[in-house]
Amino acid sequence: RSKLKIGLIPADGIGREVIPAAQAALEALGSDIPKPEFTHLLAGFEYFQRKGEALPDETVETLRESDCALFGAVSSPSKKVTGYSSPIVALRKILDLYANVRPVVSVADTPGGKPAVDLIVVRENTECLYVKQETLEHGPHGKEARATRLITERASRRIGRMAFELALNRPRKHVTIIHKSNVLSVTDGLFRETVRAVPALEDGRYDEVTIAEQLVDSAVYRLFREPHIYDVMVAPNLYGDIISDAAAALVGSLGLVPSVNAGDTFVMGEPVHGSAPDIAGQGIANPIASIRSAALMLRHLGYSKGADRIDKAVDEVVREGTVSTPDLGGKSKTQEVTDEIVKRI
Ligand code: NAD
Ligand code: MN
Repeated sequence: RSKLKIGLIPADGIGREVIPAAQAALEALGSDIPKPEFTHLLAGFEYFQRKGEALPDETVETLRESDCALFGAVSSPSKKVTGYSSPIVALRKILDLYANVRPVVSVADTPGGKPAVDLIVVRENTECLYVKQETLEHGPHGKEARATRLITERASRRIGRMAFELALNRPRKHVTIIHKSNVLSVTDGLFRETVRAVPALEDGRYDEVTIAEQLVDSAVYRLFREPHIYDVMVAPNLYGDIISDAAAALVGSLGLVPSVNAGDTFVMGEPVHGSAPDIAGQGIANPIASIRSAALMLRHLGYSKGADRIDKAVDEVVREGTVSTPDLGGKSKTQEVTDEIVKRI
């Protein structure tokens, strides 16, 4: 590649404040990556309110012609709005980005020291309750709402494979399967058994990887008490969503935790946090989750040198702590943190 075509979808709220920071970090890499070519794309709830659609075709078409993308965050209302559907949930399905990979790592106090938390949540990204097949009926005792929870062997197998592949590249090589098959023996049972069966399909490739499993409720409990027991956690969509926000609390802020939505042919970086309406418009959102998402995106594309440079600059700034946003107890603006990181890249 001589150029890297990157679609930028800031969308709503602080997404619009943090995506430019990720762009600045990528631009600072110079010749360590192919020359980035950014396209600004529209989507989101605010766009929906103006135009009546949340995800224009043009955005999807441009993404199909891009090498990768960065997504900010959307403000999805908690009440049903006719005609609206979350563009990020849609994009994951349309582009078949079946894995949401979320590394949660605390920065060690000393250079070379061991982080207290160093795990990856590997979240299935296309099914579970997020198929959004919901019905509302009137029963004899009032309203009755139902939702379909879809778990397929195919999706469980490919997310399991992703988890084992990631484990292979980590020192501890340990996978924990998160489920609730003591209650949901059919759906979670299928997820658990299918992931467990992945090594047998790969003929020795994952021999070094150890496997454990944990019920999702006690997994959250143990995550808070002894986070070091986890290395790679693989989970169905909803559990993975919840566990990764919980894990973010352990490292200080949602504003630090990056992710990528990965498929076999496309990758989209995205901070784990949402549009944060409580702080949007003030210029104080932490840009680090987005900057690290850009690094993670590069890593998935094979540009590890560029990714390392970004992560190293972020680690330094977090460790020193002199320039930090209010979520980490500081007084700095988004722009100041971004400038400090870019300077070090
Ligand atoms: P949120 O992640 O937006 O915010 C949770 C808390 O963390 C808030 O107090 C917020 O101020 C703080 N926070 C989050 N990111 C931060 C950052 N970068 N810097 C500093 N503080 C940060 O979750 P929420 O408040 O539950 O949801 C708000 C909206 O975001 C909702 O409409 C929701 O649907 C949407 N959302 C979107 C996504 C996505 O786009 N993938 C993910 C989660 C939530
Ligand atoms: Mn979430």
